[in-house]
Amino acid sequence: SRKPIIAGNWKMNKTVKEAHEFVEAVKDKVPAPEIVDSVIAAPFLALDRLVADAKGSDLKIAAENVHFENSGAYTGEVSPVMLEDLGVQYVVIGHSERRAMFAETDETVNKKVHASFAHHLVPIVCVGETLDEREGGRWQAVVKNQVTKAFAGVPADQATAVVVAYEPIWAIGTGKTASSEQANEVCHFIRETITALYDLATAEQVRIQYGGSVKPANIGELLAQSDIDGALVGGASLQPESFLALVDAA
Ligand code: 13P
Repeated sequence: SRKPIIAGNWKMNKTVKEAHEFVEAVKDKVPAPEIVDSVIAAPFLALDRLVADAKGSDLKIAAENVHFENSGAYTGEVSPVMLEDLGVQYVVIGHSERRAMFAETDETVNKKVHASFAHHLVPIVCVGETLDEREGGRWQAVVKNQVTKAFAGVPADQATAVVVAYEPIWAIGTGKTASSEQANEVCHFIRETITALYDLATAEQVRIQYGGSVKPANIGELLAQSDIDGALVGGASLQPESFLALVDAA
């Protein structure tokens, strides 16, 4: 059985002071790590402070992106060496906003997955179809391609540690959640795709999150589904009370 993982993705929100105050408010209230992995993905500037704040607690800290090179002439980027040095534990890779607005591709996503493992960061790899792709009956092809490319060259013993976040783009920040059955159908399809790439035993260890308008009111039915092992949460992760309600539901 897979341990749920609830991750807040703050996106471009919170000053360092606001981030610090949030972590101070929740860090001693998250459930035990045997029950759920509770993660906050925060802007780069806040990470040093948040890792220090969360130290000794059961809250884990993630970056929202990483470059795939260790150092060099990449103005404005942050490397996996730098994140590892801070003590960051997870990194969100290939969020749809980065794919749509910052030229993230399946190839860069794959390079970032490899770079993360080289530096002891657990990748949370985001996949998901647009509304057009869903309405055109193409979600299977789109999601299968994203998953297959993300895992390219990743050995089975690392693949089991990858967290996949299924985020239908049409459900992000729109208040439109996929129904829990619809979300589970895709998460199950993702697990079948991973089974084809590796084997069933490997695929059964991979944790698959749903993301897109998750909130305390719908987390319960999402987590009750067979193939949904957690959530990647934007808006509802910005307030301590709602983040705690989400991790408490796991
Ligand atoms: P919302 O929860 O605000 O819809 O955002 C989802 C998301 O993109 C999380 O990564």
